[in-house]
Amino acid sequence: MDHVSKEVRSKIMATVRSTGGRTTELALGRLLWAAGLRGYRKQWPVAGKPDFAWPALKIAVFVDGCFWHGCTRCKYLPRTHTKFWRDKIETNQRRDRRVSQRLRRAGWTVIRVRECAVFRAGTLRRISRALDSRRAASSWQPRSKSQAMTSAATAR
Ligand SMILES: [Zn+2]
Repeated sequence: MDHVSKEVRSKIMATVRSTGGRTTELALGRLLWAAGLRGYRKQWPVAGKPDFAWPALKIAVFVDGCFWHGCTRCKYLPRTHTKFWRDKIETNQRRDRRVSQRLRRAGWTVIRVRECAVFRAGTLRRISRALDSRRAASSWQPRSKSQAMTSAATAR
């Protein structure tokens, strides 16, 4: 695989792409569903089109393929055309940062899930914790202080 033709290279790209983001996205979707974390929208039309989003709670989850997003844990870089790939990956990383920043500025919680971390227990926990805290916040905010105190009193 020393001199890779354009054709072969695009085939490699297609393979990497299909084994990267897409399958990971499906896997996470199944995990979310199984864990009862539902009500998400896919490809919600905000910056970066998050793979999973809870628009009312402003939580965005991105699934990042390890190769395309330059996962430091996996450190996978082809030995041929290294510069070409590195440039491409760095461009993606810059875009990732820009997108996350834009969303955070607009009040979103942004969670990025690496392909290699999808099945880690901590991943689901992170998402479920974000949902919990946003839900708690949104059920408190609209109430005035006196209303909250009244309902607390009647609950007793
Ligand atoms: Zn990785």
